[in-house]
Amino acid sequence: MRDPVYYSGSASFFDTHAHIYDRKFDANNTTTEDILQRCKSSGVTSVLIPADSEETSRLAVEMAGKYDGYEGISLYASVGVHPHEAKTYTKEVEGYLRTSLDRHTELKIMAVGEIGLDYYYDLSERSVQREVFEKQLKLAKEYDLPIILHERDATGDCLDILRRFYKEGRLRNVPGVCHCCSCSLEASQELVKMGFYIGFDGPLTFKNNKKTPEVALNTPWDRIVIETDSPYLTPEPNRGLVNEPCHVAYVCAKLAEIKGVTIDEAAQITYDNGKKLFGVN
Ligand SMILES: [Zn+2]
Repeated sequence: MRDPVYYSGSASFFDTHAHIYDRKFDANNTTTEDILQRCKSSGVTSVLIPADSEETSRLAVEMAGKYDGYEGISLYASVGVHPHEAKTYTKEVEGYLRTSLDRHTELKIMAVGEIGLDYYYDLSERSVQREVFEKQLKLAKEYDLPIILHERDATGDCLDILRRFYKEGRLRNVPGVCHCCSCSLEASQELVKMGFYIGFDGPLTFKNNKKTPEVALNTPWDRIVIETDSPYLTPEPNRGLVNEPCHVAYVCAKLAEIKGVTIDEAAQITYDNGKKLFGVN
């Protein structure tokens, strides 16, 4: 059973990345109310619900609207098309994104994402992924919102595109977050230089993962956010369970250990960073 052992009673956590609309929760007989109740008992007081397609953009916005404030939890959404789904990006889809982004404040849409490149699964053609990534980068700049970057096995091309946008002044000062960072230390440092935040989740706690703790150690404190990527990537010691935002405490605990601070301190810093990144009051 889940055991939010780290909750001191005073820390607040911000899970900046949880797909709580995912069908995996239904299959597991977990309701949104269950998830949010467990957030409450674990000290998770803010959750951002990211999207990966038009369908999930609608779900994220709908859920943030319906459940914001339930059990005192603040919910936020993003809209965007993931590189896996790049092949579904049509004029109509962009039309939908624009219509919702026009009302981003009212709908609590805090970011454009997940967008980026994924050459590991290659579920959309690479040239299409790059084109759709650029289109949505422009959209983010146009609406002055940060991006949620998904990058897997595509660091070279991803950095090429971001570098070009950066040089041409087409990235925001705070361009966004490198979600579930899996790139090298060198690449993460270049992203930080461009203004990005770095998001850490379950893999930070995996025993065989040496690279991510190294990246966390070398990322400045003011650029780190924590996330779960629920329902995937469940952190130790709960691997095997469906991931939920309440598990973000384990990511925070691992981060605190790496950085040599208390869990409460790590929670506070990453909470404030999340608020700054997404412009949450
Ligand atoms: Zn995700």
